[in-house]
Amino acid sequence: MSPGAEIHSLSEFLAHALAIEQEAAARYQELGDQMTAHNNPAAAELFLWLSGIEAEHAEQVARQAQGVGLPTIQPWDYKWIGFESPESAAHEDAHYLMTPFHALEIALANEQRAAQFFEHVASTTRDESVRKLAQEMAADERQHVVYVEHAMAKHARPGTDWAEDLDPAHEPD
Ligand code: ZN
Repeated sequence: MSPGAEIHSLSEFLAHALAIEQEAAARYQELGDQMTAHNNPAAAELFLWLSGIEAEHAEQVARQAQGVGLPTIQPWDYKWIGFESPESAAHEDAHYLMTPFHALEIALANEQRAAQFFEHVASTTRDESVRKLAQEMAADERQHVVYVEHAMAKHARPGTDWAEDLDPAHEPD
């Protein structure tokens, strides 16, 4: 979404919201699978948990979209900043030795960007139904931020040596 982009129709808003939630669910699933493949079950569990939350969110949006008739939005037309949707975690951030804390740092940034996207729509749209939904979705994303912050509080920030592989023999080929 370019900083000035605005959304003034419910169908356009739902199409964006659905794409955001579906991509977040898929990307968290991928990250979870990567963590599993790299023997980091703790980080895998966190990503798969987040994936489940976002998949549920996507289903909610899909239900709201029933009967509205969503426009097909090409990836390059998405009105968000940069190439990735606000909630999609970047692949390159998924270091295979990533600790749960690092996984949660990525998740926190994603959830904050998603909340900011919906808050931006809510504060700029001229459509009351879009404003109401965007406010609800922003509140949901703020709740996700709180979940992630709570999870982060349980995981101590790792030391600076976290990236040293202490047992490289267990690394899959
Ligand atoms: Zn979220």
